[in-house]
Amino acid sequence: MAKYEWLSEVESIVGKQYGRIYSWDNVNETMVRQWCEAMGVDNPLYTDAQYAATTEHGQLVAPPAMLQSWCLAGFDDESLAPGSTTDNPYGVLEIMEAQGYPSVVAVNSNLHFDRYVTMGENLYYTTIFDSYSEEKTTALGTGFFVTLKMTYFSEQPEGVEDEKVGELMFRVFKFKAPKREKKAESTSAEPPKMKRPQPGISDDNRFFWDGCEEKELRIQECNACKKLQHPPGPVCMHCHSFDLGYKLASGKGEIYSFVVMHHPYVPPFETPNPIGLIELEEGVRLAAGLIGLEEGESPKIGQAVQVEFHTFDGELTLPQFRAVKE
Ligand code: ZN
Repeated sequence: MAKYEWLSEVESIVGKQYGRIYSWDNVNETMVRQWCEAMGVDNPLYTDAQYAATTEHGQLVAPPAMLQSWCLAGFDDESLAPGSTTDNPYGVLEIMEAQGYPSVVAVNSNLHFDRYVTMGENLYYTTIFDSYSEEKTTALGTGFFVTLKMTYFSEQPEGVEDEKVGELMFRVFKFKAPKREKKAESTSAEPPKMKRPQPGISDDNRFFWDGCEEKELRIQECNACKKLQHPPGPVCMHCHSFDLGYKLASGKGEIYSFVVMHHPYVPPFETPNPIGLIELEEGVRLAAGLIGLEEGESPKIGQAVQVEFHTFDGELTLPQFRAVKE
């Protein structure tokens, strides 16, 4: 791949460290309890002080997976906690944007924990622009993988070195969508539509996708213990049997949770794009698109929904859910 002149500007900031972003609140029981409740975590090590005192920790600790949440900015204008710096660790993305790579998608992130954090600790993190890849072409388009590393510290009293408690590797793909080929004969001004990404179909989940084509919602069922699971896997997560079949679900359920995607714009999806986590009446949950919402209408948790099957691009049939009107 040819190297672009402007990449020297990117090269010059590899390894650059960006300042401290502090947490708004010291590690505290209230946020831990709320996080555990939201995530469905019931480990008493995090919420039951009496129990925690009997463990090797001798006190309550915060769930390690909460690490990133402590130092998140506020809602208003990404408001940062006092003491934080405002230098922008995403400068590299702005450089690429200016060179014609407007889109971004997070590709992977990896959390590493050095130790548990305990109540009252004050955390902050610093960011390093770690590396970028050569220009690559993926199904989404052409661009660069950019890796940032956030290192989390617990602030110590003056004179004592702050203690590293964990690290977050965060990688994004900064890209431009593929150039659309002009059809020589075409008289239509309409650009060709991008297709929906195809699911990864394997021997373990083929029955599900075959079911969609038949307009059947098939949920994996263990022939040994008769329990259901979704998404499909090679083994029963309840009894570890490999003897798996499926059951036809009614397609009735309710919205357990949802997100509405607005940004980034990734063709061919239209925004706002509401996606629900549907709790089926059979007791398992699955993620699927929500359809039939009025403009500006938000999905509602607990709303009764019913499956419908819709075929995209003439080749991919997906279950989607529509609110059941009373
Ligand atoms: Zn089983």
